[in-house]
Parts: sequence; structure tokens; C-alpha cells
Amino acid sequence: MENKKVIIIGGGMTGLSAGAYLQMNGYQTEIFEMHNIPGGLCTGWKRKGYTFDGCIHWLCGSSPGSEMYTIWEELGLIQDKMIVDHEIFKHTELEDGRSFSVYVNPDKLEEELLKFAPEDKELIEEFIKGIKVFSKIDLPVLKSQEMLNIAELTKFGLKAFPLAKVMRKLGKLSLGDLQNKFRNPFLKANFVRLIGMYEEMPVTALLYTLALLSVKDAGYPIGGSLELAKSVENKYLSLGGKVHYNTKVEKIIVDNCIAKGIELADGSTHYADIIVSAADGHYTIYNMLKGEFIDKEIEGYYNNFKLFPSIMQVSLGIAREFANIPDAITYHFSIDEPLYIDPQNTSNEIGIKIYNFDPTFAPKGKTAVTMYFDADYEYWTELKKENPEKYAQEKDRVAQQVIDRLEKKFGEVEDKVEIWDIATPYTFVRYTNNWKASFEGFIPTVENFNVKMKRTLPGLNNFYMIGQWVQPGGGIPTAGMHGRHLALQLCKKDGKKFITK
Ligand SMILES: Cc1cc2nc3c(=O)[nH]c(=O)nc-3n(C[C@H](O)[C@H](O)[C@H](O)COP(=O)(O)OP(=O)(O)OC[C@H]3O[C@@H](n4cnc5c(N)ncnc54)[C@H](O)[C@@H]3O)c2cc1C
Repeated sequence: MENKKVIIIGGGMTGLSAGAYLQMNGYQTEIFEMHNIPGGLCTGWKRKGYTFDGCIHWLCGSSPGSEMYTIWEELGLIQDKMIVDHEIFKHTELEDGRSFSVYVNPDKLEEELLKFAPEDKELIEEFIKGIKVFSKIDLPVLKSQEMLNIAELTKFGLKAFPLAKVMRKLGKLSLGDLQNKFRNPFLKANFVRLIGMYEEMPVTALLYTLALLSVKDAGYPIGGSLELAKSVENKYLSLGGKVHYNTKVEKIIVDNCIAKGIELADGSTHYADIIVSAADGHYTIYNMLKGEFIDKEIEGYYNNFKLFPSIMQVSLGIAREFANIPDAITYHFSIDEPLYIDPQNTSNEIGIKIYNFDPTFAPKGKTAVTMYFDADYEYWTELKKENPEKYAQEKDRVAQQVIDRLEKKFGEVEDKVEIWDIATPYTFVRYTNNWKASFEGFIPTVENFNVKMKRTLPGLNNFYMIGQWVQPGGGIPTAGMHGRHLALQLCKKDGKKFITK
């Protein structure tokens, strides 16, 4: 039988992963990507000798032995990477002069929490125990849940047994619910902020992240996000795959309820046996397919699920070192004069990522730093369209404000800034086409965390969706897994033995 041809829309981490696994299994694939580089949101860019990273804070599965690491090995993403494991997840300097560190070592984190809230000993112990129990569980990610056989499910069930007690106590809680359980007034008001996640997220998502960090299985890969993407692109190309850059897909061609091909922005058409969208979900369903293949459930995702917000990334190249700062993934401090980002957003706090741990990001003696702020999608996209000059001025204004606040905090910043760069929500859409410039799709919540989102559309054959828009929480692991799971599914359907070489 001739090898089936597969068109993949989107050359982000999900599209690249799917391409690589499908090529390994004899499918003939082509990726169509609207940007001129691989990676989508998993990206970085160079300015005046500095590298500004747009994504990776922690890479789940960064240490050998886990199933996730196996996926990274198969995709050629991890083998040549040096990994840095930070001591602190998030460090915050508080308004009253104290500071709070989310240590990745659970015992140290317990001590830190008890220092603030001795009266919450019982709750804190439960939380810390949850991290420790999760840290012993290797989630079965090589196959999708529905492909696990009875023996595999039983094996996992037995291994995961200790989780049952944790799940009974914390499994149904959101971070907001957990925060409410503190008796200590400070943690009751600030726990979620100090932890650095969203209040509607399930506690289990935090426990799992902290568990991986505690066993050094969620480190930072030296070289950053774009190097990760290039590694998987290399693997894909070495397997015979083909990527078409600067090609925006406008339409999925459907004939008699069968997805047959794609139409590009330049009007050209391409055909295949199977069409996979690893691109923005909303654009895929409502634009490329004109909303013709949808049901109430899918409509519900886009009407009811909350999105990760649109953000602004401020990046600076500063000709100085930052010594003696906490070894934290992000370092937060409050500012006396709030930052005005746009009519909807001001910030009393700066969360900065100081890349002094990645020598590839700046020449010796210099440092790349990045900061994120919530930013209004409508405001920035409208401004760019209506008044490009003011858009540029506004970016300039925010950059100057940020530099001013950093000068007040650290000193010796203003005169040492060699380059600044601002990515607005408009920039995120321009380069990745993500709906409303959401930086990671749907926020996982207690309600949607276990929803198995549909990866096919009703009434449409030979079509699949994968990636962050069909998995609340998104992330690079979702990208790796979805590519593998799709290849397994197609192999099963086509009676092929699944291979990973
Ligand atoms: C600031 C930030 C920090 C993050 N930190 C982490 C982290 O620490 N760890 C982690 O695991 N994840 C992190 N993420 C999330 C992670 O980057 C994403 O979830 C993941 O990269 C999504 O991959 P994807 O391929 O599914 O989607 P995308 O990256 O959005 O890729 C989709 C691709 O499709 C292309 N495309 C869209 N429409 C079309 C079209 N019509 N035609 C052709 N091409 C199209 C886009 O250009 C893009 O390349 C972070 C993200 C951000 C923004």
C-alpha cells in the first residue's frame, strides 16, 4: 500500500512532534507554517547580541527515567541539552519588607509556609504531603488514556494508589479554594499570588508541577525555547519531512464530509489523505472550516472555558551582571509607582526573569532579562491597526517606565540598557495566530481538567486537531504527547506496527 499523505497545519511544537512521529511510521507528511521559523509560541529571538526567550520556564520530563523524557528522546529534543534546576519556583519580595520563596524542596517550602502561618500546620502538611506523593508517580504519557490496555491501567492504578488519599482531600479543590482554607489572614489573601498560578486552576496541577520540580524533572534547558524547536525540526527533517514556511492556511478543503486538502493565503491548494490542524483551535474551526463542523460541546469550549490571558513581554539587554539574586525561576517585587500598561491594566509588581544562568543569552558581563504583564488584546491590536505611530510610542512609554522601575530597584540599569524589545498581544497573534492572543490556550480548571476535549469534529472525516487548543493547560509536554498519540492512533487504524525510530 502506498504511504498515506498527511498535511499538518502549524509548525509549533505540536505540529513538529506529529510530523516526526508520523514520518517514523511511514506517513508522508508536510507541515504548513505561517511564520518563517519553527516553534510557534516556543520561541526566542536575537537582538544586538542578546537572546530574548518567549517561552520555556520549566520543561516537564527534563530528567532521564520518566515516560515524558522518553518522548523528548524520541523527538531528539533533550539529548544534547544541559539542564538547569533552580532552587526556587517563585520568589516574592513583599511590601512589608519580608519575602516568600516557593522552594522546590518540599521540606524547605513547608518551613517557609509555617513561618508565615504556624496556625495552618495541618493544611500545610497535607499540601506538602501531596507534593511528595505526586513526586513518586510517573504519569503514563506514552499512550493516550483510551489506548492503555487493562494490564497497563492496572499497573498504573497500583502505582498511583497512594494518590487516592491526596485526591480525596485536595483533588476537587481549585487554588482559590485552597487559599480560602488558610486561617492565616496573609495567606488567605495572598497564597495564589505567592505561588504564581491562577486561582481557578486545580490544586493537583500545582502539586504535580511542584512534584516534578522537587525531583529535578522540570528544569530549564540551556539555549532556551527556540533551540528546543530547532531540535525537533531537525529530527523531523532528518526523517524526510518537509516544512513550508511563510504559508498561512486559510481554508480546509472538504468534499462530501471528507477533509481533502488546504487552501493557502496565496490561493494555491494542496491535497492529502489526512489533514491535521496543530494550529489555533478557534481559527481552525470558525475560519478554516467556517464553523460548519461543530456541536454544542465544542461551542461550549469556546464560549465557556476561560483563556490564559493575553500578555505583553518586555525584554531588556543590560550591560551588567545581576549577582546575589535569588536562584528563582521568577523574581517578583512590588513597586511604589504602578506601571501603566494600557487602559485595562496597571501593575504594582514586577516579575522578572534574569537569565544570568544561561550563558548563551548574552555576552559575558551582560544580562538578558524578561518580564510579563497582562495586556489588553483589543487595545493593542486596534491601536496597531488604527494608529501605528501611537502604537510604537506606547511601546516606548512602557519600556521607559519599566526601565525606570528597575533603576529604582537595582540601580545601574538606565545607562546600561543596550536594547529593549516589546511583544504586545498584537505580536503574539502576528507570529502565532493564537485566539485573542492567549499565551497558552484554555486555563485548566477543576471543571475542565478531566474533560477529554474532542480531537475530531462532528461530521468531518480524515481530520484531526491536536495541541494546546484541545488540552486545557497546553504546554510543551502536551505538544510532544499529542504528536505521539496521533501517530499511534493512525497506525492502529491503518493496521501498522507503531515504531519510534
Ligand atoms: C510566555 C510563555 C511561557 C510559557 N512557558 C512554558 C513553560 O515553561 N513550559 C511549557 O511546557 N510551556 C510553556 N508555555 C506554553 C507553550 O509554549 C505552548 O503551550 C506550546 O508551545 C503550544 O504549542 P502548539 O504547537 O500546540 O501551539 P503554537 O505554539 O501556537 O503553534 C501553532 C503554530 O501554528 C501556526 N499557525 C497558526 N495558524 C496558522 C495558519 N492558519 N496557517 C499556518 N500556520 C498557522 C502558528 O504560527 C504556530 O507556529 C509558555 C508559553 C508562553 C507564551
